[in-house]
Amino acid sequence: MYRFDIITIFPEAFASYFNLSIIKRAQEKKSIKIYLHNLREWTNDKHQSVDDRPFGGGAGMIFKLSPVFKAVRDIKKLSRRSPKRVIVFSPRGKTLNQNKVRHLLKYHHIVLICPRYEGVDERVISHVADETISIGDYVLTGGELPAMILVDALTRLIPGVIKERSLKEESFSKNIKHEYPQYTRPAVFYPNSKNHRQSWRVPKILLSGNHQKIQEWQKKHTQ
Ligand code: SAM
Repeated sequence: MYRFDIITIFPEAFASYFNLSIIKRAQEKKSIKIYLHNLREWTNDKHQSVDDRPFGGGAGMIFKLSPVFKAVRDIKKLSRRSPKRVIVFSPRGKTLNQNKVRHLLKYHHIVLICPRYEGVDERVISHVADETISIGDYVLTGGELPAMILVDALTRLIPGVIKERSLKEESFSKNIKHEYPQYTRPAVFYPNSKNHRQSWRVPKILLSGNHQKIQEWQKKHTQ
């Protein structure tokens, strides 16, 4: 069983995605457990403020160190599951790829910090988190989508969550960069229903029933 603890100021952002399909089933089968924590619970002022102005000035507010530090400290104690990994999201982090996801599978308790506004006090990155992850070279409004992406990518690799064969032959698996193209019915599609001059066709070889030739075609189109 893998445990994910997500620290966010928008716990409600996660429900619709995590209650669907494979991630939902993985929770029902107890392959994973996801806990959402509102960072504001670790504040002690009337307004439950999690952010403050950056020293030296700057465009906006950033997450304060103290609530994040306390949240991570307390959440780590909630489970004896190990090894543990604390991850914070930032466009300045190491870009996530499939190898990184595979590597993270060795951690059975993962704490994900989702900053908002202009980011987080740098001491969260240097002292609280074990690593900083970016999901690509673009800027989002918060770490919630990156957290969903990471939980999704990790969950589907956990043994028993999806068919082993799907994992072996997919993009970014051993010796494969990109999986071969796939088609389903109909074999011929007419985009203009009134005029059949234009047609989008499935490669003939895939309809031939010749398994050897089909495998050769798939191999040729796997990168
Ligand atoms: N001021 C920051 C900068 O220029 O790098 C951008 C802050 S962004 C508006 C707010 C938060 O969203 C970030 O702190 C991070 O947690 C998350 N975020 C935005 N883009 C991201 C990305 N590409 N990968 C991971 N997290 C991202």
